[in-house]
Amino acid sequence: MKTLRLRIVQLLSVLIVLAGVSVMTERNGRGQSQQPSNEPTAPKKTETLVKPTVLATERPVTTTVPSPFLEAAAQNTSLRSDLIWTFGKKEQHGWYLYDLLIGETLKIQRDASTTDFAGTIALWQRQKGLVPNGVLDEDSWMALVGQWQNDRLKDKTPATPEQLLIAPSSDFYDPARLEELRQVEKTTYAAYRQMIAAAIADPTLKLARTSAKELAPSEKFFKIVSSFRSREYQEKLRRESPNAGSAGLATNSPHFTGKALDLYVGGDPVDTKDANRAIQVNTPAYKWLVRNAARFGFRPYFYEPWHWEYVK
Ligand SMILES: [Zn+2]
Repeated sequence: MKTLRLRIVQLLSVLIVLAGVSVMTERNGRGQSQQPSNEPTAPKKTETLVKPTVLATERPVTTTVPSPFLEAAAQNTSLRSDLIWTFGKKEQHGWYLYDLLIGETLKIQRDASTTDFAGTIALWQRQKGLVPNGVLDEDSWMALVGQWQNDRLKDKTPATPEQLLIAPSSDFYDPARLEELRQVEKTTYAAYRQMIAAAIADPTLKLARTSAKELAPSEKFFKIVSSFRSREYQEKLRRESPNAGSAGLATNSPHFTGKALDLYVGGDPVDTKDANRAIQVNTPAYKWLVRNAARFGFRPYFYEPWHWEYVK
């Protein structure tokens, strides 16, 4: 009898403790979920992103409250490889090939599977007037693509002969390339040479060189694969490869301006197959371009890692 009473007392105290815990959890949870999605939480999130360790020590509560972006992070993890979208009349799979560009554009170094990444996406979505759910879904992804496309060359007026120069064959991936295929718009060429000097000066790239400004003949990275193309030449390419599609050989190509350069960034120089682009976006040369080309006036064409346009 005595034992039974003791058991009841024990059971009651356990129940009381449990009730207390559940109240606390609910309170924490409510504090979390009561935040309306349009509340100006932006500065707080930025803070969390910039100095998470400082926050964690100052306010230990942030370590126990689950991130509001856990679900978004889970969705991003699968969308990164599985999102179905269309570009150049072709079905595309995921956005993993663009990790680096996304990181550079949104100024986030974290992996796409993290809540920090989702939080940054949400901030950007808010800026763009999109639903700030932190998920890089089709709507948001296409908006990001639109942003990149909008940064490209706007004026596609074909270059006149006096705007062009013939670059030395040593600048080209194929040094046997004919003179008429080595033409580059003059200011673009000057910017390209400056950019190459900066790349040569970066010891992490370990580029083979003959001088501080000249790549060695044996070096392939950063060499020009293709520059100015005349309308006639582009037409010839189109006839030779009718299935290249609009993403491949545009009828109104930026190459007509002489300001678009295809640079060697690894793999098969200008092949849009995902497997090839996956090699290219992981080379030190491409990574360097993503981080540095803008300083020299070059903007990427997100879909073709080798294609850069001089927009100044
Ligand atoms: Zn190109």
